[in-house]
Parts: sequence; C-alpha cells; structure tokens
Amino acid sequence: MNKNTDVYSQTKDEILKIGKKFKLDKNKLENFLEPNRILEVKIPVKTKKGIKIYKGYRSQHNNKLGPYKGGIRFHQNVDENEVKALSLWMTLKCAIANLPFGGGKGGIIVNPKELSESELEELSKGYIKKIYDIIGPLKDIPAPDVNTNAKIMKWMTDEYISLANEKNKKINRTLYSTFTGKPIEHNGLEGREEATGYGGVIILEEVIKKLGLNKKTLTMAIQGFGNVGFYFAKFASDLGYKITALSDSKGAILKTSKEDSFDIPLVLECKKKQGVLAGCYCSGGVCDIKKGKIISNDELLELPVDILVPAALENVINENNMHKIKAKIIIEMANGPITPNAFNYLSKKGVIIVPDILANSGGVAGSYIEWKQNLENKKYKKKEVFTMLETIMKKAFSNLWHAKEKYKTDLKETSYVYAINKIIE
Ligand code: GLU
Repeated sequence: MNKNTDVYSQTKDEILKIGKKFKLDKNKLENFLEPNRILEVKIPVKTKKGIKIYKGYRSQHNNKLGPYKGGIRFHQNVDENEVKALSLWMTLKCAIANLPFGGGKGGIIVNPKELSESELEELSKGYIKKIYDIIGPLKDIPAPDVNTNAKIMKWMTDEYISLANEKNKKINRTLYSTFTGKPIEHNGLEGREEATGYGGVIILEEVIKKLGLNKKTLTMAIQGFGNVGFYFAKFASDLGYKITALSDSKGAILKTSKEDSFDIPLVLECKKKQGVLAGCYCSGGVCDIKKGKIISNDELLELPVDILVPAALENVINENNMHKIKAKIIIEMANGPITPNAFNYLSKKGVIIVPDILANSGGVAGSYIEWKQNLENKKYKKKEVFTMLETIMKKAFSNLWHAKEKYKTDLKETSYVYAINKIIE
C-alpha cells in the first residue's frame, strides 16, 4: 500500500530465506511463488467530466488445493505487485485454515471516496465484465477487501448472473457462490460481516490461554475502524479486554483513563453522527469529551499497551518505528501490516506476533461457509456459522502451535513452512 515498497518482492525474498532455513526444495518454491495468471483490465466509467478509464487486476496465484479465492480491493495505491502479494497470502491463508481453496486477489486503482454511487456501481460491474471468463463457483471466487463491501458484491453478482444469462448459461442458485460477502438478503451469510473480526478474537483468546494471562488486566490499541477493526474491537471488549485506543484513516483517539474500555458500538454511532472519531470518547453508555484525546495513527502504534492490533493497511510497522513499539502481543488483522525486517526485530525482542495469514483467516473461513451454503442451497443461522468458525479457527491455531514446537521458530515462519509444505509436497 506504501507507494514505494514492492510488497511482492519483499514477500518473495522473505519466503526464499525461510525456504533455505527449513530446506524446502528451491525449484519447487520458486515455481510456487509466481502467480499462475494475472489479468490486467481497463474499465471505462462515465463521469461528469467524460469517460474515465480505471485500471484493475485479478491475480490467480495457486489452485492446487481448490478454486482461487480472495477479495477485491478499491484503493488508489493498488498496483500489480501488491495484488500478486495479496494473492500469494491468500494461498497460504486458505492452506492454514484447511479450506478447499487456492489463492487469488483483485484490485482496482481508484479512490472510491471520489466516485458517486452510480459511478461506483458502473466500475464494479465493468470490472466483472472484464474478468467474467476467469471467475466462477469452481474457478475463482471473489469477496470483499479494503473499501469493498456487501453492496459492491451484490452489484458484481448481478452483473455476473446477467452475463451468464446473455451467454445462455443455465442460471441456478449455485451461480451465487461465485461471490462471497454478499448481503444476507441476497444469498449472503449471516455472520460473514463479523467473521474476520470474530475469527481474530478467537485466535487472540487461544494465545492468551496458551500464555496463561488474565485478559481482564490487558489493554489494547486497535488501528483501523473498518469492518475488521470494528468487529475485532467489539468482540474483544465484550470478552473483557480493555480497549484504550482506536483509529480510522483520519486519526486516532486515546482514552485518558485506563480503567475502562471504549464502548465500541457507541463509538461507532458517534463516528457516524460526527463523521470523525475525534471526540467519541465513549464508555459505559456515555460519550464524554473530557475523557479522551486525539493522537496520530503513528502514536497509536507506539502506545504502551499489552496488545496491539493493526487492522488497516500494509507496512505500517516498519524500520522507522519498530524500535518504538511497546506492545507485548501483536495480532496482525490487516494483511501485511508489519514489514519482514520489523517482524524479525520484534520477534527477536520477544514480542508474540500472530501473523495475518492465521489471525485474519476468519474472513475467508466465513466465505467458505457462505460458498458451501450457496452450493448446497442451504441457509445457515448466525449461531451455527459462529460455531463452524470457531471449529475452523481453533483447529488452524492448534495445528500451527504444534508445528511451531516442531520447527522451533516463531508463528510466522511456522505458518509459511506449514502452508507451503502442504501445497508443494
Ligand atoms: N479479503 C479477505 C482476506 O483478505 C477475505 C477474502 C475472502 O473471503 O475470499 O482474507
């Protein structure tokens, strides 16, 4: 996401290094790292100033374990290398969560906040027109990612179904499983929206149990208040963790008293009303302007909290600020929020870091349940979905925790070696 970093080369170098350390077959590993296919598309959108062309990508990384699976993001800093890296992480993520999927990812270079509703719809549908041939329930299954949501998935699904109709394809309900993260009333899954945040909190609970800590005494700062950050914050505070700092892309807020947690649903309500987080110092059912202060997103990362949860974008913890990070536990809820060098540095210092490909796999696990629901023409209840999610997440965690003992290294190297072995062997 940072314009100057090639996150794909960074990840590739990191994996090759890990491969050498754990004696993985170099040839097989190099072949594995390259995506199977990358499609670059140009999408025209009618705007008030005339036709504007947007560039988009779909990277299909690996389908050894099942159809390609992964989100589509709308962001001004999307580029080919980023989409490649994200698709590679999806391959690893699905392998770790034991899902019958490979990895893919899509992206469009756009700041969606600058588009009107109808332009956004045209862009979403235009993208599907261009990638129609390479997606499908058993080929490649897109989902939401940064700046995309259930509404966008509905537009995309509608476009997909209408193109299938034009091509005289038999329309049946299984075609809805081409996309996940759809609105509940349009073949979506109850609980999919919460799944990434909920899954992350299940993993956090497992870690806290293994470390023998008392969660009621632990403070937490969360960067990002989108779908992932919000639900992570909500479920963690429901379980008794004290959330003392929150942020969105415009800035961060800190509670001046460490005694209680932010009241997360109330903070969201306040943010919606005001448009910004500043001033939303809400706890115990009230928001009090005197009970908090505004800090920057960088300051949030450096707070002396027990648990830090980067849930926004890539590379936010890097060589420039790694020396200032004070948290003892970091849960990577964004994709790639810590650079490889910063990860090594913090890990060596004894910080317990749960890597993204485990911590945020609740999202794709939820997608798997939605895909299955559509294929089998069923309708799961939220409670059933949460139970299924818990089973998937706990199994992924316990597999990796055991593997960590075998490989005698941190959770990240363990995750990479475990997932790659599963795919290339
Ligand atoms: N975008 C999410 C991720 O990065 C979800 C992907 C999916 O559900 O396919 O894991």
